[in-house]
Amino acid sequence: MKDLENYAKENHIPIMQEEGLSFMLTYIKEHNVKTILEIGAAIGYSAIRMARLDPEIRIVTVERDLERYKEAVLNIERFGLEKQITIYHMDAFQLDLEEQFDFIFIDAAKAQYIKFFEKFKKNLKTNGTILSDNLNFHGLTHQKERIESRNLRQLVRKINAYIDFLQKNEEFDTIFYDFGDGIAISTKKI
Ligand code: SAM
Repeated sequence: MKDLENYAKENHIPIMQEEGLSFMLTYIKEHNVKTILEIGAAIGYSAIRMARLDPEIRIVTVERDLERYKEAVLNIERFGLEKQITIYHMDAFQLDLEEQFDFIFIDAAKAQYIKFFEKFKKNLKTNGTILSDNLNFHGLTHQKERIESRNLRQLVRKINAYIDFLQKNEEFDTIFYDFGDGIAISTKKI
């Protein structure tokens, strides 16, 4: 695992921070999660960490960047996890799945979080959970007025809009945590 972490660091590939990841792995174990849909595989690091928890866990993940996808395929093979992890190379918005999952992990383009949520909520079982990462966005969502770059301000506005969307959502109950870079756990109401 250390090799993957170092590779990600050296190549500026954003993988989930250890604190948030530990929280997510504990959640998966405690809630007996067996089927996972991940949006945003990068080089497969978080999918590999989740799959290694339990040989019964099955993960479907998607990555649109070709180089990262290729790295992910190699890494999944390196860890012998091909039977547990299915990875697609495509834009998540082109991915149409019938299957319903226990758990959906949204970790792709932050500006699109509401769209990902709306698209994939049909793939969640009743009582299932959607976990979204990076909601503090390195602390920036709480200090909008100090951001100078226009693009960054827009991104922060979109993340705040997503937080608002979750808070007001009538189909899901959401709890926000400060672990890692800010996590939301949204559970589908019955
Ligand atoms: N979950 C990974 C981990 O912790 O090891 C990190 C994922 S990284 C934060 C986000 C990834 O999502 C990037 O590699 C990016 O190319 C991919 N991505 C962004 N938007 C996407 C989309 N619409 N469809 C598929 N992949 C996307």
